[in-house]
Amino acid sequence: DLRIQEISREVRDGCQELNLPDSVLRQCMDKLRAQIDLGLNPDTRDKSTVKCFNTYVQDLPTGKEKGQFLALDLGGTNFRVLLITLNGRHFDMQSKIYVVPKAIMIGPGEDLFDHIASCLESFTLEHRVANKNLPLGFTFSFPLNQVGLKNGILTRWTKGFNCAGTVGRDVVEMLNAAVEKRKNTLKIDVVAVLNDTTGTLMSCAWKNHNCKVGVILGTGSNACYVEKIQNVIGFDGDKTKPYVIINTEWGAFGDNGELEFIRTPYDKEIDKNSVNPGKQLHEKMISGMYLGELARLLLVKFVKDKILFGGQASPALLEREKFLTEYISSIESDPRGVFKQCRNVLSKIGISDPTDQDCSNVRYICESVSRRAAHLASAGVATLLNKMEIPSVTVGVDGSLYRYHPHFHNLMYEKIPELLDPRIENPTINLMLSEDGSGRGAALIAASGSEHN
Ligand code: ADP
Repeated sequence: DLRIQEISREVRDGCQELNLPDSVLRQCMDKLRAQIDLGLNPDTRDKSTVKCFNTYVQDLPTGKEKGQFLALDLGGTNFRVLLITLNGRHFDMQSKIYVVPKAIMIGPGEDLFDHIASCLESFTLEHRVANKNLPLGFTFSFPLNQVGLKNGILTRWTKGFNCAGTVGRDVVEMLNAAVEKRKNTLKIDVVAVLNDTTGTLMSCAWKNHNCKVGVILGTGSNACYVEKIQNVIGFDGDKTKPYVIINTEWGAFGDNGELEFIRTPYDKEIDKNSVNPGKQLHEKMISGMYLGELARLLLVKFVKDKILFGGQASPALLEREKFLTEYISSIESDPRGVFKQCRNVLSKIGISDPTDQDCSNVRYICESVSRRAAHLASAGVATLLNKMEIPSVTVGVDGSLYRYHPHFHNLMYEKIPELLDPRIENPTINLMLSEDGSGRGAALIAASGSEHN
């Protein structure tokens, strides 16, 4: 029976607070813009939730970069070591994923950096480059107050990491100290530290010179963009060059209450149960680490109200983080009115015979959660584009949420133009899926970083 079931009125009404009309999105944009402007000035940055760190990356790739580079990618689900060869338009990459045990994610910082150095050592030995002193780009995707291309002070951990004794310290120094302990077998030269947004922008710009914004929609959410030097107060990089990439760290937007007017009880519950309560509130409404749990909290509410599953929850549905963000993608990948994936997901969490009406409601709940996330991300991108005032821009995007969710791209592609300043004439905005920004982007920056050494 392919009849499209009606969504229950109670579910529609209950999800209404997740529906953000353009007028509300524009309010978010005005607030975000105000925080960005505070962040771009070192005298007011402390007051801003959106730090707008200078990355010291001032050149987009030329396509002429050459050489062999190492990269480290730490910042979420996987930790990777990469060996990259660049030669004009040719690009080759070998990489290996290493597990970061939970105990190390929340243990002493020294253990984390020792673990990184040990993985680097075994990788470079395997690939016979351990003693070549190769230039290394360190993709470290946590908020860093950069004081140079290869100096970055950790300001906070996010995304489930919390290593003692590291906040306020230079992550490259900590990495070098751990490498130094293995100096008989391992010689590397850290020439740049960057985050995944900058890597994404660079990696996309290598293919498409029009790329001026990098966005991450993965475990966390963040963005960077190309800013004019004259807009960066007290800029202490190379003033002979016109631009610099600014890492906004927009995930922390809302941490001073700017988003209270749209936060729901579900958002507050997520925050309360996180390792960083009160922090990264914008990210907690948008990114992959949280969307599944948001959907679960709504599902549980409607079960308790006896609107879903005849009022019967399963043990898994009542357990925190058991409803994965991947499930939202599966459920929304069913054609409308078909509930094959939906039933499949529900059976995984122990709901065995949902009605079509249940499935219709479950899908609507998932859509409400992902639509809000996509619209908030769109509002963020539109804020940057309005600030840049360039009519034609490519936005590089990376992260599994954007990559695998069946509608995220389309939702953003439709919403961003609606939020652009009408003064921008004939805008052409492209969203480009990034291919391995943390690897190729790191190598491209390392290439320019090693030139300057
Ligand atoms: P990271 O951001 O950590 O570098 P990813 O870009 O792979 O890594 O993002 C991981 C996040 O993406 C996880 O939070 C996960 O829930 C989410 N994710 C993974 N697969 C999917 C999917 N199919 N649909 C939506 N989200 C997904």
